[in-house]
This record gives sequence, C-alpha cells and structure tokens, in this order.
Amino acid sequence: MSEEKIKEMEIENLEKKVLESAVTNELIEEEIKKEKEDFGQSAQISDKKKFFFSKKVCKFCSKQVEESAIDYKNVDLIKRFTMPSGRILPRRISGNCARHQKLIAREIKKARIIALLPFLDR
Ligand SMILES: [Zn+2]
Repeated sequence: MSEEKIKEMEIENLEKKVLESAVTNELIEEEIKKEKEDFGQSAQISDKKKFFFSKKVCKFCSKQVEESAIDYKNVDLIKRFTMPSGRILPRRISGNCARHQKLIAREIKKARIIALLPFLDR
C-alpha cells in the first residue's frame, strides 16, 4: 500500500513539474499525434502546428546555466526533461539545443541506472 502511494505521489509531482515547465503531457501527446497525422498529409500545415514549433529557445543557453548544474544528482532539474511516462523529452518539444539535449540525455540515463529516475512508468 505505502509503496503504491509513494509512487502515486511521485507521479503527481512529476506531472506538476511538467505543467510548471509549460509543456503539458497533453500537448506532447497531441503533438505526437499531429506529427503522425501530418506525416501522411504534409501539404497541410495548420496554424496550431506553427504555434507549437514557434517556441524554440534553449533554456540553458538563454539563462546561461552552468553545465555543472546538469548532473544526474540534480534530479529536480533533469526530471523536467522527462515525460510522466519516463521517456526523455524530444528536442523539438523541450527546445533544447543539441549540446544541452545531449548532456541532459546522458545525465538522465545515468540517473536511471542508479534508480533516481524510472526507465518506464506504467
Ligand atoms: Zn543550449
């Protein structure tokens, strides 16, 4: 019982964090669906899609965060770049540049190995 509750709490916290970072899970899923749909009919480009892709600034570059802050021990930070399902957020959604996305992905993978982050939830 208690373990399940802890897990639920963790999931809730994670979802809150995703909401805080202005990238909701719904948006991600919607976008993935749209991408799949648009793949078949690439001629049609909707305004909504433009909106999704307009916001593309690397948070680390714009705020000049030190690279030492991106660390597998800094779970609160790297958690923001995972979906509630545990997957790593793709660059097209998080807006990270190649350099920072690579760093984050590496640290997330480290954190997974020492069980700070899940490989997959549910
Ligand atoms: Zn960057």
